[in-house]
Amino acid sequence: MTTTKYYEDDADLSIIQGRTVAVIGYGSQGHAHSLSLRDSGVDVRIGLAEGSKSRAKAEAEGLRVVSVAEAAAEADLIMILTPDQVQGAVYNEHIAPNLQDGDALFFAHGFNIRFGYIQPPAGVDVALVAPKGPGHVVRREFEAGRGVPALVAVEQDATGNAKNLALAYAKGIGGTRAGVIETTFTEETESDLFGEQAVLCGGASQLVQYGFETLTEAGYQPEIAYFEVLHELKLIVDLMVEGGIAKQRWSVSDTAEYGDYVSGPRVIDPSVKENMKAVLADIQDGTFAKRFMDDQAAGGPEFKKLRAAGEAHPIEKTGRELRQMFSWLKDSDDDYTEGTA
Ligand code: NAD
Ligand code: MG
Ligand code: MG
Ligand code: MG
Ligand code: MG
Repeated sequence: MTTTKYYEDDADLSIIQGRTVAVIGYGSQGHAHSLSLRDSGVDVRIGLAEGSKSRAKAEAEGLRVVSVAEAAAEADLIMILTPDQVQGAVYNEHIAPNLQDGDALFFAHGFNIRFGYIQPPAGVDVALVAPKGPGHVVRREFEAGRGVPALVAVEQDATGNAKNLALAYAKGIGGTRAGVIETTFTEETESDLFGEQAVLCGGASQLVQYGFETLTEAGYQPEIAYFEVLHELKLIVDLMVEGGIAKQRWSVSDTAEYGDYVSGPRVIDPSVKENMKAVLADIQDGTFAKRFMDDQAAGGPEFKKLRAAGEAHPIEKTGRELRQMFSWLKDSDDDYTEGTA
């Protein structure tokens, strides 16, 4: 499969400037998309639930906030940026009754379309614009005159113009400044879930916890273990992002590089790859999506139990104490604590 990339000249901003856009949700992605679209000359309103905590933040930026149903009724392009697990209910209750033929339904992650929790009518364009970065970076880069690379995909092209519309939207949030890669809802959804489960979130968290447990159970001080298996991970990952695994190996000592070659494959042995394949299979056949969504529908009992167990791991207590030693990390626990309160 050859990769198709699009840049500024491939996208026509006037297409999105000619539409009436509703951004549903004003969180990480929602604030970035709506503010940057507005700055790109697009007519944007925000749709939020009654009593939403995000309302004051959006209004403070001069954005107009209405109910989700009103936003969907006014708009002819609706970008759904609520958490994935509530999108189906929000869509069925407030958006579907306000969709007309020729409207466009947009997503930043394909989960609900891929696994059938949202089934749009045939007359509507369905597309994806997914920046490859968290919302605050998407907004920061836009304001700096740059952009974060994005993925675009078209699931349903009712008007014949869905791809140009998606590219115009991507341009409006700065994506085409960096470059946009074409994908499908299936590829975006499955690869995104796999990456976060096997490597980025699941794999990395478990690797760090096992490393911490191994050292502390052998009698090493938890503070020392924390530095070696968690704190320094950022330095390594930064090097990988800058220049791949090769640059990371070039930068560390020869001792560390040799240890990487001989011990890495002992820790992450071929059975881990077999486990990864099993995780991917559960993503592909919908087993993971069903487990997540069924638990969410029941109020998230499994999710809450797992979150509490994770927070109770001894590495978290050690980390909270040690971060006080770093002037630039002293206050970095605050937003997280607020966010989960
Ligand atoms: P978020 O949790 O940061 O924000 C969600 C927003 O939706 C909040 O403003 C919240 O008030 C609102 N909301 C919650 N329930 C609602 C309801 N019932 N009705 C109306 N509004 C409601 O979400 P996010 O992380 O920005 O994720 C949004 C979408 O973007 C998801 O599909 C996600 O997969 C995708 N995405 C996120 C990132 C990221 O970095 N966070 C990156 C790429 C794609
Ligand atoms: Mg994801
Ligand atoms: Mg070291
Ligand atoms: Mg070296
Ligand atoms: Mg979260």
